[in-house]
Amino acid sequence: MTQTPTETVPTRVAIVTGASRGIGRAIAQRLASPAGGLRHVVLMARSEAPLKDLQAQIVGSGGKASVAVADVADSKALASAIEKAAADHGRLDILVNNAGITKDGLVLRMSDEDWAAVIQTNLTSAFVACRAAARAMMKGRFGRIVNISSTSGLVGNAGQANYAAAKAGLLGLTKTIARELGGKGITANVVAPGFIQTDMTEHLPADIKEKITGMLAVGRLGTVDDIAAAVAYVTSEDAGFLTGQTICVDGGMTMC
Ligand code: NAD
Repeated sequence: MTQTPTETVPTRVAIVTGASRGIGRAIAQRLASPAGGLRHVVLMARSEAPLKDLQAQIVGSGGKASVAVADVADSKALASAIEKAAADHGRLDILVNNAGITKDGLVLRMSDEDWAAVIQTNLTSAFVACRAAARAMMKGRFGRIVNISSTSGLVGNAGQANYAAAKAGLLGLTKTIARELGGKGITANVVAPGFIQTDMTEHLPADIKEKITGMLAVGRLGTVDDIAAAVAYVTSEDAGFLTGQTICVDGGMTMC
């Protein structure tokens, strides 16, 4: 029989990076809610104010949350913040590597700096965070790691060589972690959003958005809640047999 969090499972502690807005914010809200398993969510991003606002909102709704300020591109700071969160709570069960940036440009014009910045923030940070979190998860013999990739990482995207490479790299990283840590009760999966309406995509012209919508089987753009719902399942108690997978939440754009 399936266990429910209120019966026998302890309050799971989840870290969500890039929780200040967009998809990360929605994931944090969901995981803290009854629909997401009533997790204690550690909200991580670079600036404190939006995280404090979100913390107040979650606590005001009866949930549990704390704030951890860290730049995920700073490997030492990121590892320390994760180790501190695990020590403060005496456990760490869930890690969602969501923070990400774009620095788009065609390959011929892309600078080394723009390449390196996106690889560091979108891929190296996930490796560093997984390594730091895995130690705490192994102690509890339970873990749910979710790396937020992108359909760009599966099928490529003109103008996004750095971003697509980083997002593709997350697939190899995730499958390897799944193989290395599966025997310790730790799962690792990728959630790959398609086109989701957030600050990251807000600047695109209306005609491009219309063109993208036309490519989607469901006939609408994605919302942050579409992604949060997938992450809630992948991190649930019930998802212990799901690992090494890439779940494309893209309205049927790629079907891969
Ligand atoms: P967003 O720009 O709205 O939010 C990004 C979050 O990451 C913010 O909280 C930001 O503060 C944080 N962040 C960025 N760099 C950081 C750093 N160095 N240290 C700490 N925090 C940092 O983006 P979003 O649209 O919500 O995207 C979230 C994730 O989903 C990203 O990994 C993105 O690549 C991925 N994604 C988004 C879409 C989309 O259509 N929006 C599609 C596919 C994948």
